[in-house]
Amino acid sequence: MTFDADSKMQFVFALRSKGVTDTAVLSAMEKIDRGLFIKGYFAERAYEDMPLPIACGQTISQPSVVGLMTQALQVGPRDKVLEVGTGSGYQAAILSQLARRVYTVDRHRRLVTQARRVFDTLELANITAFTADGSFGLPDQAPFDRILVTAAAEDPPGPLLAQLKIGGIMVVPVGQSDAVQHLIRVIRTETGFDYEEMRPVRFVPLVEGLGKD
Ligand code: SAH
Repeated sequence: MTFDADSKMQFVFALRSKGVTDTAVLSAMEKIDRGLFIKGYFAERAYEDMPLPIACGQTISQPSVVGLMTQALQVGPRDKVLEVGTGSGYQAAILSQLARRVYTVDRHRRLVTQARRVFDTLELANITAFTADGSFGLPDQAPFDRILVTAAAEDPPGPLLAQLKIGGIMVVPVGQSDAVQHLIRVIRTETGFDYEEMRPVRFVPLVEGLGKD
């Protein structure tokens, strides 16, 4: 399978039918070939709207979920964004089309190394990927205009809330890992945080510490 005109049309059609309407998000997803982020057997299913397995027992999210989360994040061209959970790097690549600068972290070094290779191939020079436990954020680069967490937490992690600018937005799946989780959008105000519950989702859990590989 290649990301040719036909598969792009079907890919974007599926995104629209699931509620992704933001034209900047749609054009980013039409530009970045999801097939480059999936290795081996499953690569041929890259343009279907489903999550797929990647290395280290993790998953690349379903395209419509990537679209809806990105849309909810309301990223602007001047924004500095933190993504927790690099995984394949696909979500970071989409963010890189919309933001000024993207920092992405994963607890698996192997995933970070593979994702960096794809970023280099696509010349996505505004992404910096680190191996780190993202539940502590990235204090050296904080504060952030936007934070996107792509692994499920039981609560929005305190250090991430603290690294959000006033007026900043964080989108995070919240709930027990074996139950239904909900996407939560958090907006930092002058005086605190506003929380808005969005749709139910299923993500792999946010895990403490670094992975073995
Ligand atoms: N956004 C990814 C998919 C993420 S899957 C993509 O576009 O492909 C969730 C990822 O979160 C996994 O790769 C997992 O290793 C990572 N993760 C889980 N807990 C983490 C933590 N505490 N810090 C950093 N990454 C974490």
